[in-house]
Amino acid sequence: MSARIAVTGAAGRMGRMLIEAISQSDQAVLTAAVEHPSSSMIGSDAGELAGLGKNGVIIVDDLSKVLEQVDTVIDFTAPEATLANAVLCAQYSKALVVGTTGFETQQKAELQAMQEKLALCIAANYSTGVNVCLKLLEQAAAILGDEYDVEIYEAHHRHKVDAPSGTALAMGEAVADSLGRDLEKVAVYGREGQTGARDKETIGFATVRGGDVVGDHSVMFMADGERIEISHKASSRMAFARGAVRAAAWMAGQQAGFYDMRDVLGLN
Ligand code: NAD
Repeated sequence: MSARIAVTGAAGRMGRMLIEAISQSDQAVLTAAVEHPSSSMIGSDAGELAGLGKNGVIIVDDLSKVLEQVDTVIDFTAPEATLANAVLCAQYSKALVVGTTGFETQQKAELQAMQEKLALCIAANYSTGVNVCLKLLEQAAAILGDEYDVEIYEAHHRHKVDAPSGTALAMGEAVADSLGRDLEKVAVYGREGQTGARDKETIGFATVRGGDVVGDHSVMFMADGERIEISHKASSRMAFARGAVRAAAWMAGQQAGFYDMRDVLGLN
């Protein structure tokens, strides 16, 4: 049976992609679509909005109006909106797939604490390729150990509002965990001026923003005489949307708890 899905942020860049990806999935069906109350798209047909032709799902302004008719909510909006939607999903016992990035540490903790009452999947990046990269990064860091300097580069389109990307941070966390380091203590977000020589433990991040870059990530392990790069380049948001729909179908009916894309893909 297909999982019944609600998409919040339906008129956003990812929202439209998600509506299209659901229409192509045999594991999921779109039964609700939600936008911010100020959106001019309230009352529009979600299929038409995504350029697919009418599908009969009308965009509403409040998730609580449609939660009875869904199994899983896919939320790619903004941190405050995602937190409010998580509270509703817990109340109605619906699974939640979170794609939103840019949470403050406190907001992330609040969201994670809801796993007691809520089947919650969070991934900074829902593409299958990036999740395979995360696994490779853990393995590479475990083998290479402290001898290699680790630096992370990421590039995104000019509209992205948070930096570094959630994916770059997830990559940093995968490496730091594997090396027994705390990313919050060793991360360096950009360098300028008289920085001094590189501190061995640090994991540096470099951010580029511009044009229509969907998402480039590269993690470099550098030693004297050699360099390894584990890179991923997304050329379409469809890579994220397909993965999130796969996660949403897998999450329907899961018990309360905290899941990520590696659980969905069986990589954990
Ligand atoms: P966007 O600005 O195009 O879309 C966000 C949409 O959410 C907008 O249409 C906005 O009106 C809507 N929204 C905001 N508050 C709302 C509310 N309270 N209720 C309903 N809708 C609300 O942004 P985007 O490019 O689609 O990205 C959205 C988020 O997803 C960002 O945090 C981005 O970093 C993240 N993202 C994650 C992945 C991943 O794989 N995890 C991939 C791409 C983007």
